[in-house]
Amino acid sequence: MAGIGIRDVVKRYGDTKVIHGVSIDVADGEFIVIVGPSGCGKSTLLRMVAGLEEITGGEVAIDGRVVNRLEPKDRNIAMVFQNYALYPHMSVYDNMAYGLKIAGLSKDAIRERVDKAARMLQLEPYLDRKPRQLSGGQRQRVAMGRCIVREPAAFLFDEPLSNLDAKLRVQMRLEIKQLQRSLGTTALYVTHDQVEAMTLADRLVVMNGGVAEQIDTPMNVYLHP
Ligand code: ADP
Ligand code: ADP
Repeated sequence: MAGIGIRDVVKRYGDTKVIHGVSIDVADGEFIVIVGPSGCGKSTLLRMVAGLEEITGGEVAIDGRVVNRLEPKDRNIAMVFQNYALYPHMSVYDNMAYGLKIAGLSKDAIRERVDKAARMLQLEPYLDRKPRQLSGGQRQRVAMGRCIVREPAAFLFDEPLSNLDAKLRVQMRLEIKQLQRSLGTTALYVTHDQVEAMTLADRLVVMNGGVAEQIDTPMNVYLHP
């Protein structure tokens, strides 16, 4: 069973419960968006799937394997962050290659994967530049590239477009959707932006106060104005 299974997941900080038993089944290749107001627990839930936050109760499975006890690097996922989290002193090429070097891939295999990702993301002219020499959209593409080259079972996105201007947000959201479609990689995407959520999602999870209130297609969910 591929995809992502989130089963009865609970998160408590001290005495405060912030996630109250959420269950979501993300099918293989599906694009699920978690949407809800600030503080409802979206990011915490995503970080528990990524392994960046300990799970208080319940279970997370990736590609059919329970990962509760696995380190982030062993979960076969790749995450795109709001602030891109690029290495400032490394070139675009090295930013994309770094994770693969650590994983012990051969130089040829790394080059092949990075070149392919650079082609898909139209980053070929910028491989020797440093992140500070790139526009916001280009930086976001490098962050995407770093995920793609790892060929993970799932992409996790935490408000990846929030730092871009409105026009670029629309463009990048189309690019993300096209890329996910062509790769067929399962995606779990967190945003507070309802339009972004409606545009991207195969299915939406509407969260409120640590609870998944609705899980349905964009056509069928009711969003609070
Ligand atoms: P969202 O991503 O929807 O904005 P978060 O997942 O960041 O929400 O936060 C959910 C709730 O958990 C909030 O009430 C927040 O204050 C609380 N929270 C998040 N991180 C911590 C932490 N490290 N310690 C205590 N409370 C936290
Ligand atoms: P190393 O420096 O580990 O010997 P290589 O000989 O593969 O690695 O490449 C030398 C450097 O050139 C790399 O560290 C990388 O920064 C850069 N590089 C490699 N391939 C490309 C490429 N296709 N485009 C741009 N820069 C590249």
